Amino acid sequence: MSENVYIHIPFCRQKCNYCSFISYSDLEKKRCYLSKLKEEIKHFYNNEQIKTLYFGGGTPSLLSSDEIFELIKLFNVSDNTEVTIELNPENINKDYLYSLKNTGINRLSFGCQSFDDKTLSAIGRKHTSFDAITAINTAKSFFDNISLDLIYGLPEQSIKDFEKDLMQAGNLEVQHVSLYGLKIEEGCYFASHMPANLPDNDIQAEMYLKAINILTQNGFEHYEISNFAKTGFYSKHNLNYWNNNFYYGFGIAAHGYINNIRYSNFENFSDYFKDPCRHAFEHIVSKNEKLEEEIFLGLRKMSGISSEEINRKFGINFEQKYSSVLDKYITSGHIKHNHGIYSLSDKGILVSNIILSDFLDD
Ligand code: SF4
Repeated sequence: MSENVYIHIPFCRQKCNYCSFISYSDLEKKRCYLSKLKEEIKHFYNNEQIKTLYFGGGTPSLLSSDEIFELIKLFNVSDNTEVTIELNPENINKDYLYSLKNTGINRLSFGCQSFDDKTLSAIGRKHTSFDAITAINTAKSFFDNISLDLIYGLPEQSIKDFEKDLMQAGNLEVQHVSLYGLKIEEGCYFASHMPANLPDNDIQAEMYLKAINILTQNGFEHYEISNFAKTGFYSKHNLNYWNNNFYYGFGIAAHGYINNIRYSNFENFSDYFKDPCRHAFEHIVSKNEKLEEEIFLGLRKMSGISSEEINRKFGINFEQKYSSVLDKYITSGHIKHNHGIYSLSDKGILVSNIILSDFLDD
């Protein structure tokens, strides 16, 4: 059972150079995909009242508003349900945005990545800075909950360039910004065509700290390692992940977590089409794994984790169990401690992967 749903739309017209997500350009499979997706949803979904519904991709904005509405209709949503769709700024116009509004979508997440045309072209994005700014400004007539994504550490990007991106994000007066440091993973174009002049780790760290500074000065709260929001506009859907709660994942390559089972779906059309109700992978999460996930995900939030809550949920003494790792990082200034609440400091965020994995090893 869950009140949170992720739906993967695995279509993109073309692959961006840094992308290793599961997405395909065979749009002719769209009709069949949507019918299999509905089959999967009807099989697993128990008509719970939904708190968050998230269309991610891929490029969900390749679906028509009617196709999106057909999917939303399958769920028990209310006026309070946060319904998000990821959009690529190209080909977004007033009519489409208006029709999306009428489907029940109430939150938009724009994949901007940068507002510098040279950088956008170097990473293989199909939109320009003008497209993104126009799309967001148009969307503001219909939506009051808009997020945008930026990437830092892009080829030839200087700290000054990134500062301009952040200023532009601030000027657009959106409610939410997500930031990602470029990571070149196996399978993407850049992995075999490594771009020259990638900012090194020190510059990436400086960019990240700059982002905290500029975005907080522009009225955003830094509420998760990679996420910033105006008051009242935290992503409810993503908070559900970081709070380590259950969620449905529907569609090709989607991951879900229901009744203590983490699962993932097949990543190609032929396996998924054969039986969309069969998971490619399932894993029963043990109590100890659940505890580690709770710490790992919870520390991503700037509000941190509460030892009292963890003790109550897991019947342990958190401070005793993790005394060596807590002492080490509190002394070094990487973890802050305040009345049983533990959270990462800015210094800690920069090496969060090392700190978080220390909890897993304990
Ligand atoms: S980055 Fe996004 S838009 Fe680009 S190919 Fe990947 S999923 Fe598609």
